[in-house]
Amino acid sequence: MIIEDFLFINEQGLYCSRGDFYLDPQTPVAHAVISHAHGDHAVRGNNFVYCTAATAAFMQHRYQKQAGNQFNIYNWSESFVINGVKISFIPAGHILGSAQVLMEYEGVRYLYTGDYKLQEDSTCERLEFVKADVLITETTFADPEVRHPDAASEIMKFNAFNHNILLGAYSLGKAQRLISLINRYCPERSVVVHHSIFGLNKIYDAFGYSPGKYEIYNRKSMKLPDQNMVYIVPPLTFNSYIHAKNVVRAFASGWMRLQVNNDMQVLISDHVDWNDILKMVSEAEPHEVWTLHGNGNHLKRYFKDSMKIKMLNYADREG
Ligand SMILES: [Zn+2]
Ligand SMILES: [Zn+2]
Repeated sequence: MIIEDFLFINEQGLYCSRGDFYLDPQTPVAHAVISHAHGDHAVRGNNFVYCTAATAAFMQHRYQKQAGNQFNIYNWSESFVINGVKISFIPAGHILGSAQVLMEYEGVRYLYTGDYKLQEDSTCERLEFVKADVLITETTFADPEVRHPDAASEIMKFNAFNHNILLGAYSLGKAQRLISLINRYCPERSVVVHHSIFGLNKIYDAFGYSPGKYEIYNRKSMKLPDQNMVYIVPPLTFNSYIHAKNVVRAFASGWMRLQVNNDMQVLISDHVDWNDILKMVSEAEPHEVWTLHGNGNHLKRYFKDSMKIKMLNYADREG
């Protein structure tokens, strides 16, 4: 039988009541199961951390000695138990090492997706579908209006410009995916990266997911016009270049609001769009869907009485 309060949100994050652990806690806790290394999912200072090897490597790179007291690292599908809850990690296709967390308790399978995507990405493990009784999914873009275009066609827009391109992107995951896409679809372009991205690329190399060819930025090269370069920078650096001359400014994201004020749109997202969420639901074949991050109302309307949809969101919680 599905336990309705098996997972709920309290001040520290998403809590598993039967296992007494947190999924991607927002503040340090005793037992933290971490889906992936993005800052809004992986905080520093947890006592016991349970995650994949790549997630541990990224957290230790970012947080150094404060990353966490003890890391327990598991391979894909290798199971372990916390207070009677059997747990295993399934590839989520979001960034390198990103995991869905499958929890089995009293014969019921609860699947927490973390962040995930179905689109192709050569810089991380491909998402695997598994069956679940309860699917706990992010709903960042769970809106029928949101359809992410094909990433290859977005990146090939660069071929229409003769200027250097300043491309804003999150350093972990997105930057490596972009390097790989530009190498493949814009072979005339050379890729230059901000130094903060370089250290993460080295971890990708170590795990056998080298993003491709790139150089590290030096001040002079960007000033030369028409060098056919794409300079990938993290968001803060991107914003500091607001008045840069002779460059095409673009920001790679699924968020429309991050596309304004730029010279072109680059709608490349590492999250599922509406159709891909529906695909995930049909593959998992759950009895219930519990939603997190974003808005579960569209799913609720879509499934009507055929599926129980419960929102676990911090805000606008209902039913
Ligand atoms: Zn993420
Ligand atoms: Zn996230």
